[in-house]
Order: sequence, then C-alpha cells, then structure tokens
Amino acid sequence: MEELRFYNTFTRRKEPFKPIIADEVRMYTCGPTVHDFAHLGNYRAYIFEDILRRTLKFFGYSVIQVMNLTDVDDKTIRKSRERGVTLQEYTREYTESFFEDLDALRIERAEFYPEATKHIPEMVELIEKLIANGHTYETDGSIYFRISSFPAYGRLANVKLDDLRSGVRVDSDEYEKEDVRDFALWKSWTPDDGDVFWDTSIGKGRPGWHIECSAMSTKYLGEHFDIHSGGVDNIFPHHENEIAQSLCGYGGDFVNVWMHNAHLMVNSEKMSKSLNNFFKLKEVTSTGISPRAVRYFLLSAHYRQPLNLVYDPDNNITDSFDAASGALDRIDEFRTKLAELQKQGEDSGEAGDDILDIIDKARSSFKGALGNDLDISGALGALFGMIKDVNRLLDEAQVTAVDAVALDDLLMDWDRVLGVIRPEERGEIDVERIEALIEERKQARQAKDFARSDEIRDLLASEGIIIQDTPGGVRWRKK
Ligand code: AMP
Ligand code: ZN
Repeated sequence: MEELRFYNTFTRRKEPFKPIIADEVRMYTCGPTVHDFAHLGNYRAYIFEDILRRTLKFFGYSVIQVMNLTDVDDKTIRKSRERGVTLQEYTREYTESFFEDLDALRIERAEFYPEATKHIPEMVELIEKLIANGHTYETDGSIYFRISSFPAYGRLANVKLDDLRSGVRVDSDEYEKEDVRDFALWKSWTPDDGDVFWDTSIGKGRPGWHIECSAMSTKYLGEHFDIHSGGVDNIFPHHENEIAQSLCGYGGDFVNVWMHNAHLMVNSEKMSKSLNNFFKLKEVTSTGISPRAVRYFLLSAHYRQPLNLVYDPDNNITDSFDAASGALDRIDEFRTKLAELQKQGEDSGEAGDDILDIIDKARSSFKGALGNDLDISGALGALFGMIKDVNRLLDEAQVTAVDAVALDDLLMDWDRVLGVIRPEERGEIDVERIEALIEERKQARQAKDFARSDEIRDLLASEGIIIQDTPGGVRWRKK
C-alpha cells in the first residue's frame, strides 16, 4: 500500500499513517447538534471528513466511521419546550434535514450515526468508572470532572493548566464548580428540563456534551482507534475533555491521530450561528446554485487553511460558487468531448502512448498529493493539468475513442475521492418513467396485486421519490 501522511494535531507533525488493525481504519467524527439546520461551515467539516474517508478507501483501506448526533443539550431542550413538542419530535426535523443535505452534497454515509439519547447507559457506565477512579465530585446532584486529577490535561490544545486558570472567562452561572476549568459529566434535573431526564444509578438528570463522544466512540470503535476529527473549535475544550474522560475512565490508549479542519470564514470571521453570518445549504441551493458547486467550493481549499466565502445574494455577489461552477463546466465540457469521441470511433484496442503517458503522470501526481495530508490543490492541479494536456491533443485531433475511454475511466476513478465529476443527478428526474411506474402501481392495486404495488413504491422510494395517495389521485415528489 502506498504511503499516506496526515498532520496530527496532537504531535503537531505530519506523520506516516498506520492503522492499528492492518487495512482497516476506525474513525470518529464529531457530528451536529440537531437543534437547528446545519450551515455551510459545518458542511466544510463534514466534507473534509468525507474526503478523508474516501481517500482512505482510495488507498485500499476499509473504513468504519462513526458520527454522533447530539440530540440532547441545553438548546434542544429549551427550543423543544418553547415549541411545545417533545425533544424527539423537535430534533427529528433537523436530523432529517441533515441527512438530506449529506445526500445533496454527496457526502458518503458513515457506518454509524449514534444518537446521544439512545446511549445514556453507556455514558452512565463511563461516569461510574470515573467516579470509581477518583476523577469526579458532585455538587447539587451534578457530577463534574476534576481537571486537576489529570496532569496531562491540555496536551492536545497545547495549553498549560495554570494558564487556563487565569485565562478562562468565569461564567457567572457556574459557581457550583470547584474550579472554572472543570466540566459537567452529568447535569442534575432542573424544572427547566421538563420531562427530559433519565433516572439512573448516578441520579436523575442528563449527560453533559463531552461524555457522549467518549462513550459512543468506545462502543462502536473500541477504546483505542485510529482517527478522531472535527473543526479546530472542537480541539478545546471538547476534544481535550474527551481525552481526559477516556484515558481516566478506560485507561490505555485512546486516539492515534487527531485531525482538525480550519474554518469557513465570512469577512474574516468564522461562520457561526452566534455571529449570525451563516447560510444553510437549502437557502443557497434554492437560488439555483447546485449542491455540486457547493461541494466543489467547500473541498477546493486545503482542510487546514481557512476558506473564505464570498457570497452576498442580496447584492448579487456569488463569486465563490461562480468559480466552482466554472471549474465544473470545464470538467463537463471535457467529458462531453470524450463522450462524442467514444460515440464516433472504435473503442477496442490500446490507448495511444501520448495519452497513456499523460494518464500515468496525472494518476501518480493525484494520488501523491492526496497522500500528502490531503493536498487537494495538488490533486485538483493534476486533474486540470491533465484536462489541459489532453485538450491540446484534442485540438490536433490526436485523441481516439479508445483514449477517450481510458481518460474517462481515470476521471471516474478520481471521482471516488472527489465526488464532483459525475454531473448533477438530482435535476435529472425521468418524469415519464416515474409516471408510468405510478400508473402500473395503480393497476396492480386495482387487480389486488399488492406485492407488485408495494415493490413499485419501494423502488421509487429507493430513488428518493415519495408517493402519496390523496383523494385527488396519486401525488409524487423528489425528496
Ligand atoms: P457544531 O454543531 O457547532 O458542534 O459543529 C459541528 C462541526 O462543524 C464541528 O466539527 C465544528 O468544528 C464544525 N464547524 C462549525 N463551524 C464551522 C466553520 N465555520 N467552519 C468549519 N467547520 C465548522
Ligand atoms: Zn465530539
């Protein structure tokens, strides 16, 4: 297997990557808090992780990825109560929207999306271990992790315990903690929580945020796994706290490689809910910008470099997505030429030497770039360099149908990582075929052939087509 190198936040170095178990990579990627729609900044993180996952597979590894869904915290509780619905009803809408966005952005599904509310026993078990190992204290029913009990605290973020003490802002409502640096493992129930609580051996309440990632990563990946990632804002305190919990609770090793993406910025500030400078994916795509262009834009800068969004729809400024669409047009035009050549000529035999030469060089520079800490600029450079070289030969009519097949194979191979080369599928709904299937289903139902009618409904559902039987007839829509 060729070499992969990743920058490890923990050691602050680029290191050769070696999985713990040969050929299999286990990775944990911090996921969304489903209290609202995710914004493009969040999707920068999830696209970086998608490129990481696809690159690992491209290099021949199998991947087991876990992404948690935080479906209980202060915000989800407060907002569900404001809306007068259960916590579950409240979070469902945002969870569904999250998965729709992942599909639109062609983000491959992780193997597991554990929800915090379904893993309370695992969290309680870990907190019990921490209590037994002497790392906690209790105030008014809440349980805190005592940071001074873990001397290695601060190593990931490269901060010293003493600096933290002086540097951290003291929240006025956190007097119950012995030390401002300590964090809650378990929050005891208060009337503000309404019916959101769990009655457990450590009391009536709910988990703090950090504990879910330690407990759920261990459940699905084991105590020691290969990669843990998130945005740079997760380094401190979230990932630092995870390290403290996992090492003090389970002992042994935790994570081999910590990887963090830089932020998506808007006018030099991090895109975030609190700054109110965010855009949701559907908000952008409803103006006609394709999700494929959004994906291209978000993956086009190296993950450790900040990426600036130039987009102000009120003033018709769409520069970031225009640049992405321009790049995609170049790819599409190139593939159209290849397709025309394939239609015209014989497509058996060997590709020409010139083309094979171009393909070999491009293939190795693409893979070499990705292997070098996901150097996307290098990989895209190989792609567009190849297009430029072949376009020159196309102008001289030096490319055959066989060459075109080989070139398209190369593009499809690269698309396993990039996920932007195939054209948009969403707009390409074959209405006639769908309506014919719906008519066939209607007739099957009339003939009481429910097996066939269900089969058709499932087939359409698998393609994202939802059908509804209404008094006025069958309605359908694309999810
Ligand atoms: P949150 O829902 O805020 O916990 O964020 C979910 C993921 O998105 C985390 O990995 C964050 O680090 C990441 N994230 C949040 N805002 C941005 C941003 N502006 N740019 C890149 N990543 C972000
Ligand atoms: Zn996490």
